[in-house]
Amino acid sequence: MPTQLQHARDGTVTAEMERVAEREHRDPEFVRRQVADGQAVIPANRAHDALDPMIIGREFATKVNANIGNSDTTSGVEDELEKLHTAVHYGADTVMDLSTGDDLDAIREANVERSPVPIGTVPIYEAVTRVDDVADITPELLLDVIEKQAAQGVDYMTIHAGVLAEHLPLTDGRTTGIVSRGGSILAQWMEAHGEQNPLYARFADICDIFREHDVTFSLGDGLRPGSLADAGDAAQFAELDTLGELTRTAWDEGVQVMVEGPGHVPLDEVAENVERQQEVCDGAPFYLLGPLVTDVAPGYDHITSAIGAAEAARHGAAMLCYVTPKEHLGLPDAEDVRDGMAAYRIAAHSGDVAAGRPGARDWDDALSEARYDFDWERQFSLALDPERAREFHDQTLPGDNYKDARFCSMCGVEFCSMRIDQDTRDADGEMETIEGDTDLSTSPAAEVNRPPTGTHDAEPVADAAGTDTAETDDD
Ligand code: SF4
Repeated sequence: MPTQLQHARDGTVTAEMERVAEREHRDPEFVRRQVADGQAVIPANRAHDALDPMIIGREFATKVNANIGNSDTTSGVEDELEKLHTAVHYGADTVMDLSTGDDLDAIREANVERSPVPIGTVPIYEAVTRVDDVADITPELLLDVIEKQAAQGVDYMTIHAGVLAEHLPLTDGRTTGIVSRGGSILAQWMEAHGEQNPLYARFADICDIFREHDVTFSLGDGLRPGSLADAGDAAQFAELDTLGELTRTAWDEGVQVMVEGPGHVPLDEVAENVERQQEVCDGAPFYLLGPLVTDVAPGYDHITSAIGAAEAARHGAAMLCYVTPKEHLGLPDAEDVRDGMAAYRIAAHSGDVAAGRPGARDWDDALSEARYDFDWERQFSLALDPERAREFHDQTLPGDNYKDARFCSMCGVEFCSMRIDQDTRDADGEMETIEGDTDLSTSPAAEVNRPPTGTHDAEPVADAAGTDTAETDDD
């Protein structure tokens, strides 16, 4: 049976493409062309019956992934299903099951059975749990795990095939070495065996499995920088070049592809990172972890990374992997998942608004109108996190009589600026025109409002006497 990519190339609009078009308010033919050209993916394993299809691509709303999964010390099937429910409840578009503890098959099968969103995995994690030593992993074991997970209905898999033996010395001298779990495991394996990365060497075999089940590649960035000090180094970009090569190979094999990206990147380099990936990987959807734009705020890394994520979304990132406040510190709990999801949905939506993606601003405008109308119920229901908006409002004004009050407790009834504004306007919502005799060009404000020396263009500004002066950076 053809994959979504093969169908698209054949000119067939699948049921999944129809559904995606409906969800995104786009023309089904546009969706088909985006998939056919590899510019978007519809991760939809044929065995994932509960899936409500979605699309990942820079022309569509920016998506957010949430990571869940147990470790060797925590959580079983019921706990993981609870995490899945929490992630989807707070708006996750996809969920990655990164379990490394017990009951891996039961957890994965339960997730696929219940999840309306695509499920992603990192198969090398399971391979590690099946051996005593990383060096004992064989290429056949990796292919067995990938085949089994594909048959279980996993929609996309992170495959770190771009970490080549030739790249490893490029990480010497890094401040934080190799921080990707998959990347560090493969580096250890290659150093132990003196051989090439088996995921690269057997990439054609993986393509065969993916094509059979219509699994989408998420080409992992195993050499991503783990600190600002390592951002944009030779190792990161050598791997990216290999990911470009693998993207084209997968397309030739009829398999959908997205590409993962860094990590930790200074704010002024985020746009450049997105543009470089788009160029090297011929527009394949870019899926970023953050990036964190500073390393100094453990405990707040959902914020440091959401800043980078918004900038990435604005410049064309297709999906953002959320980061929680526990990043670098511990396993997130349900409240951390909520905070991380909120931060990332804000980042994704801000990027969509700034990039002018169709319909993105409508949400903001609808909420602003409800706010100015003092329609508190509508404001809550439109809020990104309706429960939190209602909870915060009702902490001080809980009664039903306050649900159409023309104020809240922030400024109070007397100082509510929106109430004062409305009371000042006439019935048509207009201010009366007042004829004044103030000459703004000679007012003292003209002097006060001069821009600071040395940071502005050589635009003429009025001095206190009303004559023009021109200041330059040389002043
Ligand atoms: S009281 Fe202040 S914060 Fe509250 S609705 Fe009025 S202007 Fe907005």
